[in-house]
Amino acid sequence: MATAAFPELDPTKESILVENLLQWSLANGLVIYPPDFKSYQPVSAPVTLFPTPFPKVAFNDADDVQLLFNELYAKVSSDLEFLSEIIDDLAKFDSGFTGKLWEIFLKAKKIGISQPLSLGIFRSDYMVNEIEGLKPQIKQIEFNTVSVSFGGLSTKVGELHRYLNNHGDYDIGEGTNKYYDEQDLPISESITKLSEGLADGNYYYNGCVSNNKTVVLVVVQHKERNVFDQRLLEYALLANHGVKSIRLTLSEIDSKTYIDSQTKKLYIKSTNDEVSVVYFRSGYAPNDFQDEQDWENRLTLETSKAIKAPTLLTQLAGAKKIQQILTDEVILKKFLKEKDESNFQQLLDTFVSIYPLDDSERGKQAKKLAFEKPGNFVLKPQREGGGNNIYKDDIPVFLQSIPEKDWAGYILMELIHPHNYKNKIIRDGKIYDEPIISELGRFGTIVFNQETGEVLSNKNSGWLLRSKFESSNEGGVAAGFGCVDSVVLK
Ligand code: ADP
Ligand code: MG
Repeated sequence: MATAAFPELDPTKESILVENLLQWSLANGLVIYPPDFKSYQPVSAPVTLFPTPFPKVAFNDADDVQLLFNELYAKVSSDLEFLSEIIDDLAKFDSGFTGKLWEIFLKAKKIGISQPLSLGIFRSDYMVNEIEGLKPQIKQIEFNTVSVSFGGLSTKVGELHRYLNNHGDYDIGEGTNKYYDEQDLPISESITKLSEGLADGNYYYNGCVSNNKTVVLVVVQHKERNVFDQRLLEYALLANHGVKSIRLTLSEIDSKTYIDSQTKKLYIKSTNDEVSVVYFRSGYAPNDFQDEQDWENRLTLETSKAIKAPTLLTQLAGAKKIQQILTDEVILKKFLKEKDESNFQQLLDTFVSIYPLDDSERGKQAKKLAFEKPGNFVLKPQREGGGNNIYKDDIPVFLQSIPEKDWAGYILMELIHPHNYKNKIIRDGKIYDEPIISELGRFGTIVFNQETGEVLSNKNSGWLLRSKFESSNEGGVAAGFGCVDSVVLK
């Protein structure tokens, strides 16, 4: 075990380290496109200079609870009655997006859902509460059910930090060449495991046969910058499972695919390839839908026979409102009837207080807290993808700026305070030296029958560490606040 969290390197050694880090990143695909890019000009992805210390017990706890979370959200998205009641309400507060997703689902249901199977590619995000003398505890930030990212770059950044350690770039010249013990530097298996999840979808689509004639359709954003993160999964899908993938934007669906009206099978026009899985890396934010045709195209995909990752219901199950409702023990228990008490407790232990802002008793309590102690909270609307939350003292001002009847569209969540570290962030070749805090994501994949709730396959699929300056509220990597990181277990 290293003596201090990070080696103290002299300036000459540090600049060699940075150069080695950048060249490894460019040579190995730890890259993204910058804003306004040309297709041949990716840059090294923002990363930390060193791996960040992370408590081993917390790292393992997040692993242990992942299959339960996968199953919980599969059960929730299979319970139409439960979802209808909540989403119907939520749709009123956010008619432009949640309401639209719900409307498209209802249309699809009317037309007929021809594929009962659903593929969940999930990521559960945590920060660690570390209190002197107590066991470090993972606390859930959010559960993501659509378009979860950085599974590709996560494996790469772990490999990068391990390479730098093995190469002696962290060496402070005290005998051993490697600053960190290699067994404390795990590498996330997310590339292998997430692509395996897609292959599982392909397998179940084909009636439990490994068929490499059918393809995965990856629905991508126009001008996506995080292409390589996605590509790494696609390359592994082909290399390890022989399954090809095709990338299209939502706007291209009507012109470049067609559906057989009898079988409802989805095909790619140019090749006549049959699509087994539609993997959404788009469609999670209002901007992903440019016009009515894009919504039509989302509907087409939902009614096709291809397995969706995720279906509209699974996507909606990831609403922050649902996360808040699931912190209610009675409701949580309803979904975990067959699980024993210890499983139930495992999930509960990851929750912090999350309040509704409605007319219920808890809602009234929350309305008081939001004005009396805003510094303890973050206010979240029903949105994904970063940059939407309202923090601390901005909460009262914000709430006063909108009608009180609209407050019920938000949830009020207790802030988690993880330990900070003096790691450094490398972005655009420059070193940023400010305290950082980290968020651990655990990936999971699950194939389930959305009509019956039956689970066919449920897997752990690796992890991700993202870090950001402690001074910034949000941690968006592409938005310029955060970066990908890896752990050194402590
Ligand atoms: P999004 O769907 O936009 O990713 P999140 O709920 O993940 O929304 O919040 C965005 C970011 O805000 C998180 O990555 C984290 O950095 C910060 N954050 C959210 N909730 C909390 C919390 N309860 N305590 C501390 N930080 C939080
Ligand atoms: Mg998030």
